[in-house]
Amino acid sequence: MDDQKPPAHQVYLTADQIYTCGNCHAHLGRNEDIISKGFQGRHGRAYLFKTVHNIALGPKEDRVLMTGLHSVADIACIVCQSVVGWIYIYAFEDSQKYKEGKYIVEKAKISKENFWLQKG
Ligand SMILES: [Zn+2]
Repeated sequence: MDDQKPPAHQVYLTADQIYTCGNCHAHLGRNEDIISKGFQGRHGRAYLFKTVHNIALGPKEDRVLMTGLHSVADIACIVCQSVVGWIYIYAFEDSQKYKEGKYIVEKAKISKENFWLQKG
């Protein structure tokens, strides 16, 4: 996990439905990037995303979740630094391996925005 990334700058997504930071409305993910909406976060319902943009990773830590022990890192909006969820870096249980490299985003921390009008 030591790959060098260029300095963070905000990415703007184009899709009909985009999930944004609930605090500053930076674009985080597209509706089609959601794998499951049936997850549980620290603040209630959470979504599992395969890709999330405009986020920075916090320190890696081992955390015992409902589905067992995982290595995770918090993910925070690069614009306002609010923590919106976490990434699964490593799952110790074979049945949970599919979550590695995927992102949990707390529904309570994000907004859903529709861009129907932009289609003309
Ligand atoms: Zn933000």
